[in-house]
Amino acid sequence: MPTPLTVDPIRLAHGADAIADAARELAAFGWTPATSSNFSMRLDDHLAAITISGRDKGRLGRDDIMVVDMHGKAVGSDARPSAETGLHTQIYRRFPDANVVLHTHSRTQSVASRLFAREGRIRLEGWELQKAISGYTTHESVLDIPVFPNTQHMPELESRVDAWIDEGKPLYAYLIDGHGIYTWGKDMPETRRHLEALEFLIGCELDLRRLSP
Ligand SMILES: [Zn+2]
Repeated sequence: MPTPLTVDPIRLAHGADAIADAARELAAFGWTPATSSNFSMRLDDHLAAITISGRDKGRLGRDDIMVVDMHGKAVGSDARPSAETGLHTQIYRRFPDANVVLHTHSRTQSVASRLFAREGRIRLEGWELQKAISGYTTHESVLDIPVFPNTQHMPELESRVDAWIDEGKPLYAYLIDGHGIYTWGKDMPETRRHLEALEFLIGCELDLRRLSP
């Protein structure tokens, strides 16, 4: 018999507070409209804390965060995890260094995801702020953000993400068509930096399309 997974209450409380603080700020930016978006943090090798489905992300408390295992199953709670929980735990399974996943639905992310869906990616090149993404040290780098088709069938989306990773392409974030962005990092500050940089860069690409003759 495998031993049941136990939740460290102190680690959970710290994780929940960090998620709630970040969520409040991202909600204030207007990136989490109408209870959308979800946020998570790895607690240990087997467990992650994640926002409960349907809560206002600008007003999260510890009771709005639950624990799931690395396959998205609720642990020690009857609450319903977000339908997209599997996309978070996939990142934790595939990237051992990822400890935080942030998913938002900003207007910029949503519009860009529609516009670039046909190309299947947004290619970022020549922007100084690419250096905000870990591992990128120059504006001369090329940073591809894939745009995957939206679906309500999460295993389909997970297999597209797996296929991208299996091809050996670098992956720090992805967009879902008409939906929003997923990004991650080693801790909350790095993941926040990735999210803010990508929001800015994607907004710049949108402006270029708008202004180019
Ligand atoms: Zn979503």
